[in-house]
Amino acid sequence: MQLQSMYQEIILDHYRNPHGRGLREPFEAEVHHVNPTCGDEVTLRVHLDGDTIADVSYEGMGCSISQASVSAMYDLVIGKSVPEALETGEHFMTLMQSKGDASVAEKLEEELEDAVAFAGVSKYPARIKCALMSWMALKDASARALSVAHPAAPTGGQQA
Ligand code: ZN
Repeated sequence: MQLQSMYQEIILDHYRNPHGRGLREPFEAEVHHVNPTCGDEVTLRVHLDGDTIADVSYEGMGCSISQASVSAMYDLVIGKSVPEALETGEHFMTLMQSKGDASVAEKLEEELEDAVAFAGVSKYPARIKCALMSWMALKDASARALSVAHPAAPTGGQQA
């Protein structure tokens, strides 16, 4: 099978059978992100166990790229620490900036697993935001979740 059509199959598979979809409890932070240029939306919750991402739950609507991206991201970040997950997000960003350069995708294949299938999207600037929306939402939600898990005054003396 051609690489390009294999990538398309992976994306469609995540779109039709999204992994981890649905909003669950408990969670420390919930965010809502939109990609107005395409009409994509996602509501995403993060649940941390210490600094580890124990769950990412979500609901969304929009194009197949945006929705499949959340599903592929879900598989990648569960069980990782927040810094590890954000580093994976940086690698995904690198892939989105690769303008279809196959050598970039090849290098990131092991790290990004199914998310490497979005390599083809990097050739279409208008669609990059569709693929990145989920990762932006994760970054936002995990930063908020961390600030809940590690409040500024941990001694408890001055809590509001
Ligand atoms: Zn879209």
